[in-house]
Amino acid sequence: METGYLFRYHFDAEICEETVSSDLKDEPATEVAKLEDEFSHYTGHKYVVAVNSCGSALFLSLKAAGLQHSEKVLTNAFTFTAVPSSIVHAGGIPIYIECNNQYLLDIDDCKRKIEANPDAKFFIVSHMRGYVSEMDLLEELCDEADICLIEDCAHSLGAKWYDKKSKQDKLTGHHGQIACFSSQSYKLLNSGEGGFIATDDDKIAAYCILAAGSYEKLYQKHLSRPFDNHIFEEIKLSVPNFSLRMNNLTAAILRPQLPILEERISAYNKKYKQLTNILAPANNIDIPKSLKSVTRVCDSLQFNLINLTIKQANEFVQQTSERGVKIQLFGHKDNSRYFKNWHYSFKEIPVLKQTDEFVCFACDLKLSLSFTTDDIDLIGYIIKDVLYKIVAEENQVDYPTGLTSSFEDLNEVISKYDNWVSDYDQQHHQNGWKKLLTHVAYTLTSYLTTDDKILDIGCGTGLLGKELSSYNFKNLDGLDISEKSLQFAKTFNIYNGLFKTELGKTLDFADNSFDALVSCGVFTRQQVPLNSFEELIRILKPEGLFLVALRVEDNNYYYNKLKEYYIAGILSEVFKMQFNVLSSCNHELVLVKKLA
Ligand SMILES: *Cc1c(COP(=O)(O)O)cnc(C)c1O
Repeated sequence: METGYLFRYHFDAEICEETVSSDLKDEPATEVAKLEDEFSHYTGHKYVVAVNSCGSALFLSLKAAGLQHSEKVLTNAFTFTAVPSSIVHAGGIPIYIECNNQYLLDIDDCKRKIEANPDAKFFIVSHMRGYVSEMDLLEELCDEADICLIEDCAHSLGAKWYDKKSKQDKLTGHHGQIACFSSQSYKLLNSGEGGFIATDDDKIAAYCILAAGSYEKLYQKHLSRPFDNHIFEEIKLSVPNFSLRMNNLTAAILRPQLPILEERISAYNKKYKQLTNILAPANNIDIPKSLKSVTRVCDSLQFNLINLTIKQANEFVQQTSERGVKIQLFGHKDNSRYFKNWHYSFKEIPVLKQTDEFVCFACDLKLSLSFTTDDIDLIGYIIKDVLYKIVAEENQVDYPTGLTSSFEDLNEVISKYDNWVSDYDQQHHQNGWKKLLTHVAYTLTSYLTTDDKILDIGCGTGLLGKELSSYNFKNLDGLDISEKSLQFAKTFNIYNGLFKTELGKTLDFADNSFDALVSCGVFTRQQVPLNSFEELIRILKPEGLFLVALRVEDNNYYYNKLKEYYIAGILSEVFKMQFNVLSSCNHELVLVKKLA
């Protein structure tokens, strides 16, 4: 910046094969040239040309590949507007191919469209949000039809696919003749704006270098280039200069990021894993899985809302946004990733039924490296809290089959829960009960560490256990009176131990065994006797916590008992809060601590 040498060619040296590194040491303005060289080492391409955006890179790639005016270019129906825009900019006509709800190209539709458009000789495959399609198949299809394949790797830097030939994972961008990358702020490398063209082809590299804005002999200032000058001189005067160069400041911002890329990838993947784990118990969320052969870089989260109406999906986005979690629906009327909004690229809106069906429910959330573990717990909690509420509002029924307000005897309780196993989870998802469960589990993240030993009292089919486990609580035990429920819970592998136990009797645990006890839907309807607390307090460690949901309509039947322990100096109340979840009854959430 002191020298003012921000133009990428503002240095004296010419680079030829022999002088590659030595001549550049003292040149202050070689940032872009060095970045191109380093980037090519990272991706494993022979040549790299840095430009001002991935959109520019795609545009130049099509020009370099020889696209003529009004020629067709096949591409994904699910991608960012920059992709069809680059096609239109280069004079082409996009032909859109259906994608499936896992965000991949529909290979059958590829075949159909390749067959229906024998004149189409170009294909931009977009690895949208890092989801990489069946590339081996696509490469084969393109080879057979003599189609030039260009990969939009804007969002797939660092993503890998399994290469059958070498039997190892390789970085994306090697199936096509050209791969384009982005360093716009939302991508793994961030310079605000920036892009790269990567190729192994001498002629394509030369064309891109010239067309990006390398006039006269400036191509000789490129480190990552074919060193045979004839290749440039032959075409130089017939290649237009589009002035799409990257500048040195951008390159200077990017160069230090390359060596820490792997670190960044694993940091993102860790955050992603935490968040998807939290979302796992939500029945209405489907998180697309990458192909087995693909290792995605998870710098953002995508998921499909399932079994919701469009109206509910919009409410979900609105309500999460009000609480600070900014989620986008790809198929929203304002979203530039929705093909129906690409009016510049067609006369009539193309019919893409399969893509249309999922994009309207496909959600997008950018992750940030600044998110802490607590932030991610909160984000996951907000998503589930909003979703569970929306689902319950839709259904408006607490229990389709009704629920008695009290039980005759223990046998009635047992048979009720034994018979409820098959549809217990579904009903308690639909009626919003999981809103309480996720709240309980999330609340505990503020008081416990994930290794603390927790007993889920009345664990039933494991619904609360799943919520606890989603926030990474690993040390869970469960007890219940219903054998059938326990058998069901066992199949999820979330509890260390599951015990068939009657509350009110002596419990088969040593004194001071647990850091925390949790219980939802147990201390209600007089299902368990008041003397149950005695044993629970015994097995709880001093300073240990007991978080319990109590029903309100029973004249404080259980709460009055707890108060006796407060007065006796055995328990103290940390908080008590109203928690309205079912419309047929109100609940209070009470957190107590065992005094030392
Ligand atoms: C970001 C992005 C682009 C465009 O990149 P720019 O550098 O902003 O032009 C293209 N394709 C995909 C899949 C992207 O995510």
